[in-house]
Amino acid sequence: MADKRDYYDVLGVSRDADEGEIKRAYRRLAMKYHPDRNPDDTEAEARFKEAAEAYDVLGDPEKRKQYDQFGHTAFGQGGGPQFSNMEDIFSAFGDIFGGGGGGGGIFGDLFGGGGGRRRSAPRKGRDLKIVLDLTLEEIDQGAKKTVALKRVEPCKKCKGSGCEPGTSKETCPTCGGAGQVTRNAGFFSMASTCSTCRGTGEVIPSPCKACRGSGGVQERREIEIDIPAGIEEGMRLRVAGEGDAGPPGGQRGDLYVIIREKEHKVFQRSGPDVLTEVPFNFSQLALGDRVEVPTLRGRVEMTVPPGTQSGKVFRLRGQGLPRLNGGGRGDQLVRVYVDVPTKLTDRQKELLREFGEIEAHKGGKKSFFERVMDRFS
Ligand SMILES: [Zn+2]
Ligand SMILES: [Zn+2]
Repeated sequence: MADKRDYYDVLGVSRDADEGEIKRAYRRLAMKYHPDRNPDDTEAEARFKEAAEAYDVLGDPEKRKQYDQFGHTAFGQGGGPQFSNMEDIFSAFGDIFGGGGGGGGIFGDLFGGGGGRRRSAPRKGRDLKIVLDLTLEEIDQGAKKTVALKRVEPCKKCKGSGCEPGTSKETCPTCGGAGQVTRNAGFFSMASTCSTCRGTGEVIPSPCKACRGSGGVQERREIEIDIPAGIEEGMRLRVAGEGDAGPPGGQRGDLYVIIREKEHKVFQRSGPDVLTEVPFNFSQLALGDRVEVPTLRGRVEMTVPPGTQSGKVFRLRGQGLPRLNGGGRGDQLVRVYVDVPTKLTDRQKELLREFGEIEAHKGGKKSFFERVMDRFS
């Protein structure tokens, strides 16, 4: 083949280059013309194959000697090894790239394994977070809540492309579209995301004026959120696809709704149970009574038996909050206490003094202090 280039010229090394120089030269070319970095570029592919062929010969002392003596004719008609496809090249030279065969080695390190990954996939939009305050009644029933938030929507002027109408994106000149740049440090190479295109492999020559090339603009949106009954403080609801719009071709981010309970005037929550305190007057607890107490779903009747002590807790079964996992409802716990009156009529005072006298004599001659101590013995 008359037009075949000299292998030393192909690798750009002198005829007396040592093995290390040849290896480094090939590595440099293989990186430069790697198909992953030059998608659909037949010129680069040809260069890549040419370099592989040159290295196949010059990298092998025996073949190199033959080549030095006889040139391309040393290898017969075709002149040197012919690589029909990229896989041949990778399997032939995988080991020199430092990672053994199987698509590892430098290409694996550089391009995410298997030499397959090209530029980074379209990124997802940002996830958003909002805090939602709920009343216990809303938590009890489950709710549909409408929340307003600002989020990124695709720019209408450029349809999210980021390019001024009539223009389009171009391959990034820094990384040649690979999305990554490689720095050589001795035999090792460090790959990092290209800072010019931030890994997308493309740049926008004329950014859209409405969105300054970002492809998105902040807009106010109202979103309806389904709140499951029984949800708890601090829980996070994920609303898929309601975050910021992604870059062109990318998915929307998600919306995370963080639940916060509003303080309730009457009820306190304890998991699926609700707690409340109900005041009684002394005679109700002493004599027993039937009263109405508030629950999250209206009033219910509750009986306090005669002789109920202040501080006693009654349990109203099934009057609590629904359990999130569908296991029925919790209970309502009612703590009763004596509401000591601060304003008394003369008649009430008279009755209470009389009551006190009788109580005092019931205990015999024991003092008030002795009677208190009796309760603890
Ligand atoms: Zn780039
Ligand atoms: Zn735009």
